[in-house]
Amino acid sequence: MNTHYDAIIIGAGPAGATAAILLAQAGWSVALLEKQRFPRRKVCGECVAASNLPLLDALGIGDAFDALAGPPLRQVALMAAGECIRADLPPLQHARHRWGRALGREYLDTLLLDRAKEAGATVLQPWMAQAIRGGPGAFECDAGATGSDTEKIFTAPVLIAAHGSWELAPTAEVAQRRPQRPGDLFAFKANFKNAQLAAGLLPVLVFSGGYGGMVLGDHGITTLACCIRRDRLAVCREQLRGQRAGDAVEAYLTASCGGVRHALDGAQRDGRWLSAGPIRPGIRMSRDGGAAFLIGNAAGEAHPIIGEGISMALQSAWLLSERLIMHGKATVSGSAQQQIQREYAQAWHRNFARRIRLAALFAHCAMRPGMASGFLPLLRYRPAVLTHAARWSGKVMQIYQPAT
Ligand SMILES: Cc1cc2nc3c(=O)[nH]c(=O)nc-3n(C[C@H](O)[C@H](O)[C@H](O)COP(=O)(O)OP(=O)(O)OC[C@H]3O[C@@H](n4cnc5c(N)ncnc54)[C@H](O)[C@@H]3O)c2cc1C
Repeated sequence: MNTHYDAIIIGAGPAGATAAILLAQAGWSVALLEKQRFPRRKVCGECVAASNLPLLDALGIGDAFDALAGPPLRQVALMAAGECIRADLPPLQHARHRWGRALGREYLDTLLLDRAKEAGATVLQPWMAQAIRGGPGAFECDAGATGSDTEKIFTAPVLIAAHGSWELAPTAEVAQRRPQRPGDLFAFKANFKNAQLAAGLLPVLVFSGGYGGMVLGDHGITTLACCIRRDRLAVCREQLRGQRAGDAVEAYLTASCGGVRHALDGAQRDGRWLSAGPIRPGIRMSRDGGAAFLIGNAAGEAHPIIGEGISMALQSAWLLSERLIMHGKATVSGSAQQQIQREYAQAWHRNFARRIRLAALFAHCAMRPGMASGFLPLLRYRPAVLTHAARWSGKVMQIYQPAT
């Protein structure tokens, strides 16, 4: 097995797979390490904003996405207690792609990964990156094949960290668990058949101690995903002693949100509840980058209330890959990488930092019933504020520009 590559990418979620496709298409040799087997379900609301669809075309999976994804998302709603306030979503100014759509991560991530293989990337799966040494120009990555004793050291001048944010990274500086806090957020997701959610509607759920979303995606399946504070989750579990955490969350959501109650009336859960966390919203990318290039959630994570994490994963991968390709693989020495890091970090902050801060503000208000109910009179009077909020959160912000 070859162990030297132009780039090693850790993690084959939307960020890592996108970078692998783009670099491989440009002639780079790429090792893409993914510790899980695909297809796999993943905690996620699964909405892909319209701004990503031109990039999916460029990645070569646009037609497959069109064929599989759920109906176009044209309206947003805010659901709080018994209330449902609806508004139009802003359309993307694009000849073919105007509306976002939802697709299960077992499909989206597999489409991207298969495309990375087709483009020529070496996909090592299930392989887990365990430790990283060296620096720009000469990285070493220790990795092991899951379920076997096979271990290898991979080397490359460029290392791209796309391992998400919910698990410990194989880099020493973040390999410390944080102390537990009452405000830690746990993420949950379940799929339902025969739910009564209107096609094309994207409701945001606000409730005491958390927030969430629902959407009708591929194969007539509705996804319900949410984040809930540790202290609120403990109360839910206490009330439903003996039940699994996901069931306690479902009971809490149906009791506290009329929109969820209505949507799930007569629906059947498809598979088990998935959970993850504590999630780590926030900005991790420094202003001048670091040793490894960070993309997707590894670089920074918006509170999922805005449903923009997949966008930021795909688009950050494009922002970085475009710069690496422009500099050329032959010239990506240590000192050239410092320059690319600075350019990329600036572009990343320009495009994503404000959205991450805005999402934190939305999440802060949504989780506190007093604050959320303070906004309801305004939203009843001017539902279009929701349209603006969707625009501010980046739903139609097209970062990817095709090469001319
Ligand atoms: C409740 C909830 C709802 C959400 N809803 C939406 C939504 O509707 N729309 C949206 O756009 N975003 C949404 N998001 C956010 C979105 O899920 C993430 O932002 C997105 O998955 C980030 O992609 P990524 O590629 O950076 O990381 P990930 O998708 O987390 O992928 C990282 C990959 O790296 C692998 N990995 C990790 N460590 C290693 C290692 N050491 N070695 C090898 N492989 C490794 C993992 O197995 C994983 O496959 C939601 C998130 C939550 C929690």
